[in-house]
Amino acid sequence: MLSGTQNKWEELCGMYQSMGISRQVYEFGESVAEELKERFQEIDRVAEYNQCKVLKAMQEEKVSEACLLGTTGYGYNDLGRDTLEKVYASVFHTQDALVRPQITCGTHALALALMSNLRPGDELLSPVGKPYDTLEEVIGIRESKGSLKEYGITYGQVDLLADGSFDFPAIRRAVHDKTKLVTIQRSKGYQTRPTLSVQKIGELIRFVKQIRPDIICMVDNCYGEFVETIEPSDVGADLVVGSLIKNPGGGLAPIGGYLAGTKACVENAAYRLTSPGLGKEVGASLGVSASFYQGLFLAPTVTAAALKGAVFAANLYERLGFAVVPDGKESRHDIIQAVTFGTPEGVTAFCEGVQAAAPVDSFVTPQPWDMPGYDAKVIMAAGAFVSGSSIELSADGPIKPPYAVYFQGGLTWQHAKFGILKTIQSLADHGLLDSDLRKK
Ligand SMILES: *Cc1c(COP(=O)(O)O)cnc(C)c1O
Repeated sequence: MLSGTQNKWEELCGMYQSMGISRQVYEFGESVAEELKERFQEIDRVAEYNQCKVLKAMQEEKVSEACLLGTTGYGYNDLGRDTLEKVYASVFHTQDALVRPQITCGTHALALALMSNLRPGDELLSPVGKPYDTLEEVIGIRESKGSLKEYGITYGQVDLLADGSFDFPAIRRAVHDKTKLVTIQRSKGYQTRPTLSVQKIGELIRFVKQIRPDIICMVDNCYGEFVETIEPSDVGADLVVGSLIKNPGGGLAPIGGYLAGTKACVENAAYRLTSPGLGKEVGASLGVSASFYQGLFLAPTVTAAALKGAVFAANLYERLGFAVVPDGKESRHDIIQAVTFGTPEGVTAFCEGVQAAAPVDSFVTPQPWDMPGYDAKVIMAAGAFVSGSSIELSADGPIKPPYAVYFQGGLTWQHAKFGILKTIQSLADHGLLDSDLRKK
């Protein structure tokens, strides 16, 4: 007869089997999850710290029931909006913040930060290599209407060294009289370089400030929020910028972006977002404030769930014999996990698995398609409550060598786990794994 504990395991395995996961895949997952207990404890510790940080900010800023209501029209005296911006400033330990549904996405938030804090004749410098794809057109690296380049703002770039470290001598040479703003991207995005830890970002900011203390140091914080107990604004960043349909929205924000930083930087951005003279005074919150607050409240634990998923995926895929970045043991500074398949079939099978695990649109089969701004077809898997949300379980991969897939999100650890097991089942079902679940 089975013992009580065994019965419970059987019950769970049975549930997984009823959802298309074989006993073999389930048991493989269990054996790896078992080894990750300590790692997960550390992730939970960070989440606990950040939960307190967010709660403390909400209490100190006296978030009230009235803050959850919305305004329309001009949105003068929007208590919810103004208090939320104070809460963000408190969480990021900055003088001020701009947190708005009128900021449509991460790229918009970053463009806003750059366009409002740079003037014709200024130079923007990226000391960490090429920025995120969508920023190429904002900056004018790729020609586009309304780019910084069109407004006479020049751009300089210093690549990271081969080992991922900063090229300090080259950065020193690249900083000159016109350098006004340095942009530092925390996450690797779709590149193979390592993601920067907050501590590393701090070293870079100190170096830049030693050359010229008046240079604005901005951090693209996308996917990095709440992964550590400190944020780039704790190590000298003048401005941190991100998207609310990633980590800080906690899966509940239906739109939005944030900027947190010095009074001067945030004021410039507010004047640009609305109008000179109006700034932060206008901008109706239209009833989304409640989801912004609740999303921020959940963000530390949602980020932790996504992180556990990323660590779990790295360890499983490493064992299957695939190259993963970061590897199973590395410390994490964002929630993105890359897995290299080496074949288009691998990328497609993985994305089919993620899609099949979704709460929404689980019955559709993702197809590679030509996306604006990309030079190869891209396949995307997302069955999200918020369209395009990448704090929810999602994956995408360009159909070109090295045939890598980028995986992120998961509003709960249990869902992230199920999704990852589903990808392995999908690979097995497509005949891409042998009978021992190893890469063929
Ligand atoms: C997602 C992301 C962006 C852009 O955000 P969107 O919301 O997709 O416009 C910019 N930088 C990094 C590092 C990102 O991960």
